[in-house]
Amino acid sequence: MSIAENLALVRHNVDLAVARRREAPVTGPLVKVVAVTKNHSADEVREALAAGAAALGENRVQEATAKAALLPPAEWHLIGHLQTNKVRQAVPLFTLIHSLDSEKLALEVERVAAKAGKRQDVLIQVNVAGEDTKSGIAPGGLTDLARLVSGLEHLRLCGLMTMAPFYEDAELARPVFRELYGMYADLKAAALPNTAIEWLSMGMTNDYSVAVEEGANLVRVGTAIFGPRHY
Ligand SMILES: *Cc1c(COP(=O)(O)O)cnc(C)c1O
Repeated sequence: MSIAENLALVRHNVDLAVARRREAPVTGPLVKVVAVTKNHSADEVREALAAGAAALGENRVQEATAKAALLPPAEWHLIGHLQTNKVRQAVPLFTLIHSLDSEKLALEVERVAAKAGKRQDVLIQVNVAGEDTKSGIAPGGLTDLARLVSGLEHLRLCGLMTMAPFYEDAELARPVFRELYGMYADLKAAALPNTAIEWLSMGMTNDYSVAVEEGANLVRVGTAIFGPRHY
């Protein structure tokens, strides 16, 4: 199947998952698909853009910068871990950073965004399942980090992101998604100043249908759109 056909199938599955939701989530009925382009060529990304991909996701700042230079302007999202020494390169490129996970990183993004005269939209990444191999703050640290970000003028907190553990059976990830949805609903209800809580980023190729059923409105899908990655 072509990239365009794959993208259409993902969109269709997302629509089916929205229809299966048992109640209307606070995230609303619209779901954006982020096409994850890591390890795929600029030509493949161009195909996805032509097919109407709304946003592109990359894990690494350098890879995204190199690819963006070969492509028409697009909405780039940083979905991988961000090191403080890459912030200077990241801020000009990314519409949304999904992976804010520490006070130190928040302060560095604030410093760089202030210099660039940009208001940087960010999501806080939460390590819901507490896996050693995954980045993200522990759920217990969320409130403090959200308050800190709320106080930074050049950041705008827009929601939360998580990566569930990989399970063959995506059903097993459902409790993780449900837990993050609860944290998201609380954060939205808290109505912190200087925030616009509207994005809940969860779900990848293996589990995006379950994530959408549990209220995700931003899914990050690579393999189902572009095929397997070749490292
Ligand atoms: C690679 C990656 C994805 C996409 O993974 P697929 O399984 O290929 O859909 C989504 N989110 C993050 C954070 C990733 O690193």
